[in-house]
Amino acid sequence: MKAQSDLYRSLPAVDDLLRTADIKPLISQEGQAVVADACRAVLGRLREEISTSRLESEKLALALSGIQSAIETEVRRTLGYSLRPVINATGVILHTNLGRAPLADTALDHLRETAGVYSNLEFDLETGERGKRDVHVDRLLRKLLTEELAGASPAGRARAPVPTQPLRTETISTIVVNNNAAAVLLALNTLADGGEVIVSRGELVEIGGSFRIPDVMAKSGAILRDVGTTNRTRIADYERAINERTKLLLRVHRSNFEITGFAEQPSIAELVTLAQKHKLPLAEDLGSGALFDLRTVGINDEPGVTDSLCSGVHVVTYSGDKLLGGPQAGLISGREDLVRKMRANSLFRALRVDKLTYAALEATLLACVKKDHDSVPALRMMRLSKAEITRRAEALISKLQEQAGEGSRPTRFTAELLDGESLIGGGSAPSAVLATMLIAVTCYSLTASELAARLRASVPPVIARVEEGRVLLDLRTVFPAQDEVVARVLSQVLAQIRAV
Ligand SMILES: *Cc1c(COP(=O)(O)O)cnc(C)c1O
Repeated sequence: MKAQSDLYRSLPAVDDLLRTADIKPLISQEGQAVVADACRAVLGRLREEISTSRLESEKLALALSGIQSAIETEVRRTLGYSLRPVINATGVILHTNLGRAPLADTALDHLRETAGVYSNLEFDLETGERGKRDVHVDRLLRKLLTEELAGASPAGRARAPVPTQPLRTETISTIVVNNNAAAVLLALNTLADGGEVIVSRGELVEIGGSFRIPDVMAKSGAILRDVGTTNRTRIADYERAINERTKLLLRVHRSNFEITGFAEQPSIAELVTLAQKHKLPLAEDLGSGALFDLRTVGINDEPGVTDSLCSGVHVVTYSGDKLLGGPQAGLISGREDLVRKMRANSLFRALRVDKLTYAALEATLLACVKKDHDSVPALRMMRLSKAEITRRAEALISKLQEQAGEGSRPTRFTAELLDGESLIGGGSAPSAVLATMLIAVTCYSLTASELAARLRASVPPVIARVEEGRVLLDLRTVFPAQDEVVARVLSQVLAQIRAV
């Protein structure tokens, strides 16, 4: 075995590599700098492998013979996109790790039309003077909320409106910030900085990542006054905690968990009455914030934006990329005077969103106004029937079996239909599931997680669920035009598996 120093010496210099004939075309295509960086990265890896003794002379010779293609791969990786499309076969519609809501075609068109050129983002075309960026979505939300209030929405509401405080939509406005976490921060800072905010102990939630009500409260400068207990909080607990330092009552939606059993929570109507009595504002962090009536897809316990405002809640905060089906954003809708204060807060300038978000949000809201819910992918996926998903799943399974030449070759896998549930995800009630038909795939010579890993490594990556030793694919979250791609990727992966 050669000494380590000999191995190091047999590595070529970057300049030598750049002069080799094989590398020349790559340099003329992508430029000397990128290729030189790639050479350094590849050589660096070889050096590191030598130093940890993973590479003796034979292996090094082999690595050196393939160094040109290693450099090419490195160049492609550097110049390729890191953010890539994937196929979501998990059945989780609002999958935070997979980018939550896919945008509607009209949103993409509107983005393309307005973002590549100048726009009237903050420009009043009539007066020629500076305008406000909020107007683009504020007018649509006003319209949506007015219609719902006028009783245009089907079915009864989850919450009865409080008759003592009829909501007038001409006094409702909306502003947009970066996400719902920012919306909560801005609302708390504006309405309660230096004062106390009363929240039930059962609502001190953590929403994946690092959004925790007590932490956001601390950052906002407001002081948390938690009342009641984890499972039971009564209106009297709120009332007892009210004092001259109290600035706000806050209700937080339990987006990702449920408290069942010996549990109690005051109704929104009780909170509204209490807020009125003490002349305090009442805010509700809805999280998902549906503008579309979820009762039409059988989800009954998710309060919508209008449900809350109708009930007399003064300010609601919600996400743009959850049940609204639009881009990442945080929306604050509520009483005009309160929202105006938030707009005037210097934090708003730091949290406001770009024209990209306004374009996508305006188009998504416009689809809602037109009641064209099927043009919004997340809403369309929620409305897909199990029968339709079953039909597509059956077609996909027959294609797989056809391509595998089932019958003529030894069986390497099974693919069958399985009753299951899709999740809304992204912080809607954990019980909000939709009946679906899954494709369950089992391989004889590969574990389910190995198979799932190969699907992820495919181009495009296909992301599936693994449960009880099977790979489960839910076509609810797969776009119909992608069914064929899923079939091809699965066939390719399965064809590489050893037969038993
Ligand atoms: C999702 C959620 C948030 C955070 O919203 P982002 O848009 O992800 O910042 C905050 N509060 C509740 C109740 C939520 O469900």
